[in-house]
Amino acid sequence: MDDIAGKTLDVVIIGSGPAGLTAALYAARADLKPLVLEGPEPGGQLTTTTDVENYPGYPEGVLGPKMMDDFRKQAVRFGADCRWGTVSNVDFAKRPYKVTIDEKTEIFARAIIVSTGASAKWLGIESEQRLRGHGVSACATCDGAFFRDQHVVIIGGGDTAMEEAQFLTKFAGKVTLLHRRDELRASKIMQKRTLDNPKVEVMWSTVLEEVLGDKVVEGVKVKSLKNEEVTTLDDVTGVFLAIGHKPNTDLFKGVLEMDETGYIQTKPKSTYTNMPGIFACGDAQDKDYRQAVTAAGTGCMAAMDAERWLADQEENDS
Ligand code: NDP
Repeated sequence: MDDIAGKTLDVVIIGSGPAGLTAALYAARADLKPLVLEGPEPGGQLTTTTDVENYPGYPEGVLGPKMMDDFRKQAVRFGADCRWGTVSNVDFAKRPYKVTIDEKTEIFARAIIVSTGASAKWLGIESEQRLRGHGVSACATCDGAFFRDQHVVIIGGGDTAMEEAQFLTKFAGKVTLLHRRDELRASKIMQKRTLDNPKVEVMWSTVLEEVLGDKVVEGVKVKSLKNEEVTTLDDVTGVFLAIGHKPNTDLFKGVLEMDETGYIQTKPKSTYTNMPGIFACGDAQDKDYRQAVTAAGTGCMAAMDAERWLADQEENDS
């Protein structure tokens, strides 16, 4: 990073999922020579999935890491400078804004695109982490179709769990919903739809103890919180977590306007944040859709918004 230390760049993009890399492609083609700071998980959440079958343009599907590598190559081809570095601090007190990379290199940016994404919440048990991507998933929309006629469990009691349980019933033969309480958090209408579905069975006041299997999921052990009884469901081949997502926006707390759960607020039909020259796209600002294709769409918007904003600044300065 020494070659850019102390320099002022037009556009710095923080994060390298579909939103950040699409923003990079558009900003590069607008000759803004964007710098992409890839963050702790270059390529974003899709690098932890296997086949992606719902991104338009790939009729045979594509592996998540391969798709993100394609996104990156396309952005680099037009001049984006993608680097493995994590932003450790930002100072938005005056313009150009100061960005600190890996706690040592300081650079300055006229415009910043925040595309830091979100992370699914996990339970954190060893077997869940070991079998992630091998039958354990936090995205039913991405991975549900692999479980045709099989028995899957989904964990959570909110709207996401209801929606994803319903989605899973299109493929799975049986969906067991595990919820830690005896009452769901989800809206009544979503609850009703799920509970009325004959393929869904609910295990109330129950938690996942262990995912069984060496290389792939071969069952689960669940524990009742009412009587501590542990049960093995040995025909389960898929485990879906739907216990919420957390946007990766801690860095911007107190500076960028966010909702109560940390999603950055953008002005309607744009990627403008409350700070001039700072734009937000992808899962860091979208809690409703959270798809690669929608993230890419808002990444494109962010680059176009930044380009127009920079042009306006230049006009005002001259
Ligand atoms: P929520 O935070 O609403 O729900 C998370 C669920 O996971 C809760 O039932 C919670 O249990 C459970 N949970 C959390 N941590 C654990 C844990 N460690 N172990 C076991 N269970 C756990 O998240 P959602 O993703 O469901 O929803 C987020 C927001 O998005 C909400 O505002 C929701 O309404 C909205 N949304 C709307 C949709 C729609 O309208 N179509 C679709 C999807 C989401 P407990 O209840 O005990 O706390």
